[in-house]
Amino acid sequence: MTEPVPTRSTTQWQSATVVAIVRETATAKTFGLRLSQPTAHLAGQHYLVRLTAPDGYTATRSYSVATPPGGDGRIELTIERLADGEVSIFLHDVVEPGDTLEVRGPIGEWFVWDGTTPALLVAGGSGVVPCMAMLRHARNTGSADLVRLTVSVRTPDDLYYADELPGPETHIVYTRRSPGDDRRPAGHLTADDLPDDTHRYRVAYVCGSTGFADHATSLLLARGVPSDAVRVERFGPSGHDHRRLSQRTLLPGPTGSTPASQRRA
Ligand SMILES: Cc1cc2nc3c(=O)[nH]c(=O)nc-3n(C[C@H](O)[C@H](O)[C@H](O)COP(=O)(O)OP(=O)(O)OC[C@H]3O[C@@H](n4cnc5c(N)ncnc54)[C@H](O)[C@@H]3O)c2cc1C
Repeated sequence: MTEPVPTRSTTQWQSATVVAIVRETATAKTFGLRLSQPTAHLAGQHYLVRLTAPDGYTATRSYSVATPPGGDGRIELTIERLADGEVSIFLHDVVEPGDTLEVRGPIGEWFVWDGTTPALLVAGGSGVVPCMAMLRHARNTGSADLVRLTVSVRTPDDLYYADELPGPETHIVYTRRSPGDDRRPAGHLTADDLPDDTHRYRVAYVCGSTGFADHATSLLLARGVPSDAVRVERFGPSGHDHRRLSQRTLLPGPTGSTPASQRRA
């Protein structure tokens, strides 16, 4: 087993082999990646995934690491398939175990949890991914009392990590349909869904779509959380200049890797 290198420059691209793909929900899959150059990461950091077309066109997107620090060179990314997405559709519909992807990371210094500071986590939809890395890290290190995670999803079917996430540190808010035994009626996140003791947490991490992040941030501020204690990661539109490519024209990794497009042809 190769020990992750903690100080490797994150400016270099490396290849990663897809070693597992697990379906989380109807629209989300977790991709297990074996890094060719194992690199340590912190809870909350993300990787860039770059796809390259035969003519050199590239599409690059950010994906948070779901796995906690301390892995053995394997990371997991959980990716939502957007109906009109470019990269997420390729990853969902074309990539298979054994394929290689080109990745760079880990990236991020602000939206990271140090593992010792009491932290309030508020996530919407796929925004739960970096928060899951924090929750897993807290549980793994016997520090679960340091974190509280409130996650907002539309229905029980939309909850990522459904077998693992529920616990005394987590509160799940359903916005469209709640389970039969849930006493809270389905509806958007409100201040009442946040822990009573918000003052106990020195930092709050908010992650999700731009609309969710803004809403959750305003709730935290209304509950008296200082603005400089709130760290926000928005998964919204990136403004990437992308073109509507046929999925089969994109290669998952650098030129020379096995293109899934050829395998499927
Ligand atoms: C730091 C960071 C970490 C991220 N981590 C994750 C992660 O762990 N899992 C994950 O699934 N995504 C994550 N994202 C979002 C991801 O980078 C892409 O934006 C997303 O996968 C869409 O890419 P695409 O090429 O499929 O869609 P695009 O082709 O880029 O966009 C398709 C359409 O969807 C809109 N759109 C783009 N992104 C989103 C979005 N997130 N929600 C709703 N509409 C959108 C665009 O405006 C466009 O109309 C992260 C983003 C950032 C900045």
